[in-house]
Order: sequence, then structure tokens, then C-alpha cells
Amino acid sequence: MKQFRNYIDGRFVDSDRHFDDLNPVDGSVIARVHEADRAMVDSAIAAGRRAVNGPWGKMSVEGRAKILYRIADEMERRFDDFLDAEMSDTGKPHAMASTIDVPRGAANFRVFADILKTAPLEAYRTDLADGAHAINYTVRKPLGVVGIISPWNLPLLLLTWKVAPALACGNAVVAKPSEETPATATLLAEVMDTVGVPAGVFNLVHGFGPESAGEFITTSADIDAITFTGESRTGSAIMRAAADHVKPISFELGGKNAAIVFADCDFDKTIEGMMRAVFLNSGQVCLCSERVFVERPIYERFVAAMAERMSSMKLGWPGDKASNMGPLISSEHRDKVLGYFELARAEGATFVAGGRVPKFNDARDQGFWVEPTLITGLSDQARCMREEIFGPICHVTPFDGESEAIARANDTRYGLAATIWTTNVHRAHRVAESMKVGLAWVNSWFLRDLRTPFGGSGLSGIGREGGMHSMNFYSELTNVCVRVEGGAA
Ligand code: NAD
Repeated sequence: MKQFRNYIDGRFVDSDRHFDDLNPVDGSVIARVHEADRAMVDSAIAAGRRAVNGPWGKMSVEGRAKILYRIADEMERRFDDFLDAEMSDTGKPHAMASTIDVPRGAANFRVFADILKTAPLEAYRTDLADGAHAINYTVRKPLGVVGIISPWNLPLLLLTWKVAPALACGNAVVAKPSEETPATATLLAEVMDTVGVPAGVFNLVHGFGPESAGEFITTSADIDAITFTGESRTGSAIMRAAADHVKPISFELGGKNAAIVFADCDFDKTIEGMMRAVFLNSGQVCLCSERVFVERPIYERFVAAMAERMSSMKLGWPGDKASNMGPLISSEHRDKVLGYFELARAEGATFVAGGRVPKFNDARDQGFWVEPTLITGLSDQARCMREEIFGPICHVTPFDGESEAIARANDTRYGLAATIWTTNVHRAHRVAESMKVGLAWVNSWFLRDLRTPFGGSGLSGIGREGGMHSMNFYSELTNVCVRVEGGAA
């Protein structure tokens, strides 16, 4: 049986507590995972502290950038290992893991090495009344040891999204991947080991949230900052834990994202885009559109075209290159999603497509699948319209006019993402700017330039990461103010 161990202070560490890592395609056991106890988490944090206080914390920008490039190179060299690990941990199709998860995981290190090398510092000259002046400039220093807690939906991509900028800024990290998806994080530890990242800079601990590694990280007085991606409810538990020691937090949380489709859209491209926006990763992307508002003249045609496309989706084995949808991550998560299907029925929804567990008559029947699902007929106040479901389901509803669409799309406590489909350039800008979200896409979805701010408002998170926003979160800034006597000669 494969073993996934912790990686602490440059060594792989066993534990006497274990849990199983399951393949959601057929429920089979992939590996035995070694759960870190509190002493292991504490020793990872202490190793991180030694690393930050040692040569790593003082390494030149060039030196750190070189190490980040080496990490990206080694990840690319082991591309197929990462691909296999991500596909068996999540069940996601080859088409997705090979084009998004693995390449973007490696790209995160390259992008933040580039940003590190070009990151500007602020400087201001202040003229003083007595003829002297002051020069202010900002020095960027590591925060220290950063706790990173990540989810299961894009395990490698979202972990490296935080590890890369944290290391770029000279921090050490103690990272905890989701208990559902420990495989690629363990491979990343192997990569760190191979390329010679100094001991203690990257520490990996496996386990769960409450009373396990997650909580041991977030409640530790010795962690200098916490960056978290996951559910809004978990974010509020972590915020409470972090409050005791007043430390920086960055939260990327859930969403209940709207799509607005205007009658003047390019219809075929919109259907293509919306199939992705609803069903990519079986709807398990925080950015997925669960509330779809369609202008009345094309509403019926839109619903029919989506249903038609859904009927030919291939729920296949991850290695099958034609497969375009995988299972949900776990049986617990499937129960949650099926619970929302039941609730939608009780709330009066019409199921236009899907709504059941598919039958395969092979080992996939032991996995955690649900059908791609499209519903209509709910009121905007229904629970299924207000709570994040995080599965392959959307609700489609008609609207009349721009202002109604904006008001209904913004009627949520979440504020992560929106996608707008129109060929009217004025409307596109007007509506995009009116969205109360961190990310508004026009005629596109999940199109990312890693230098741009990423994050949400309301229940969707606190702060922004990406490009310089990450550099600022993972750095402590010191302003140096120098009084200079006399004017220029
Ligand atoms: P989750 O909150 O259940 O778990 C995320 C991580 O937090 C896991 O590693 C888990 O072990 C840990 N954890 C759980 N409870 C904890 C606690 N009390 N203390 C410390 N750690 C704890 O989320 P999930 O189910 O893994 O991921 C799905 C959620 O993530 C969805 O809500 C989705 O919208 C959100 N998400 C958001 C973004 C974003 O960028 N905004 C991206 C991806 C996923």
C-alpha cells in the first residue's frame, strides 16, 4: 500500500495514526495517509522558524528565484506523476488535469519567481518647512512561518498558488492539504527535497480540520500568518482561532456565482462557455455559475441548448481522453449535493436534466457520481438559490432588462465571481462594473492572468491574492524614513 508521509524539517516523517485516501471514481483505497499530531505540527513550525532565521530568510532575490524555477522545472519533469496522482485523488478527467491542474501548479512557481525579480518598492520624497527633506522607502521582509490550508477541488493548483508567493517572499510554510487529496502535495514535498529547498522551508502536514493538523496550525501562537482556501463556514472557524493571536489572514472562500446571459450574446459561444462555467470539475470550482439569469427572448432556447449539450457529456474514467466529467470528491459530499437535489424538489424546482445518480454497471457504481443537472422554476429566495451547492448543477431563470439582472445577480451574501455574456460593449463594461464580486468575466469564464487580483467579498473571502497582491500579503513592509539636511547643491 502506498504511504503518504508528512515532510518536516527536510525529512519524511511517519505517524502511528493513519487514514485512507480514496479514489472517488470507484471508492478504492489509493494510499494510507500519515496524520500529523500536534507535536509534529509544532516541530514543523519550529523548523520553519529556524529556516527563516537562517540563510533562507537572508537569501538574495536572485537565489530564491532560482530555487522557484528549479521547483517548476522538476514538477514539469514529473508531469505524469503529478497527473496520475491528481486524477486518482479527484477523479477529474485527463482533459482537465493535464491542461489546468498540473501545468498551472508548475506555472505558479515560475510566475512568482518572475514577479519577485521585478517587484517594485515604494519611495516618496517629502519636502519639509525648514528646507530639509525626507526620503521614505519601503523594505519588504518575510512574515515568518505561514500556515497554508487548502481544499480538495484543485489540490495542486490552489496549494502552489499560496506556497509559491510565500516562498518568493522568503517565508517558510507549514502546508496542510485537504484530507481528501493528499497525493500531489506529497509529490510536491518530494520535488522540494530533490531540488534542494533548504530543510524547514517547506513543511507538509497531513490531517483533518478540527482537533487535527488544521486546527493545530491555526491555533498555534507561533504561526505568523494564515492563508486559507475552503468553505466560508471553515473560514469563520479559522478567523476565530486566529483572533487570539491577531495575525494576518487571507481567505478565499465559497461562492454562489451568477451568470447573466443577454439576448444579444453570441449564442453558440455562450453555450460553450456556460457548459464550462457550470460543469467544469463537476461543478466543484468556487467560481462555477450556480445561478444563471437569461434574458427572456432567448430563455427557452438557452435551456434547450444546455440540456441538449448535457445529454452528450461523457462521465468517464479519468484516463479516458473523451471523458469530460468526473465524480464528486467523496460520498459525504455527494450526500450533500443529493440533499440539495431533494431540497430543490421540495422547493418546487423543475428538473430539466439530470438529478440522479448514474448507473454504469461497472466499478464506477462504487464511486461518488451524480448526473449533470439543470433546474428551473425556483424563486430567488429558495435555499437552493442562496446556498453554495458545489456540484454539477445550475438553476436557470429568465429576466427582463439590465437593471433587473444586476439586482438579482447581486442579491447574495457571497461575492466571488460573475460571468456576463453580451456583444454590446457598453453593456458589458457597465454590467461587469456593477457586479459585487472580486472577479467579473465578460464573454469568458475562469480566464486567468496570474498577476491580477483574485478573491472575493462578503462570505467569499477577505483580501486578494495574485501578482503583487500576493507579494504584499506574504511580506512585512517596513517604511524607512531618512531626514536629509539642506537642499541640493
Ligand atoms: P473545507 O473548508 O471543508 O476544507 C478546506 C481545508 O480546511 C481542508 O484542508 C480542511 O481539512 C481544513 N479545515 C476544515 N476545518 C478546519 C478547521 N476548523 N481548522 C483548520 N482547518 C480546517 O473546504 P473544501 O470542502 O475542502 O473545499 C470546498 C470549498 O472551498 C467550497 O466552499 C469552495 O467554494 C471553496 N473554494 C474557494 C476558492 C476560492 O478561491 N475562493 C477556491 C476553491 C475552493
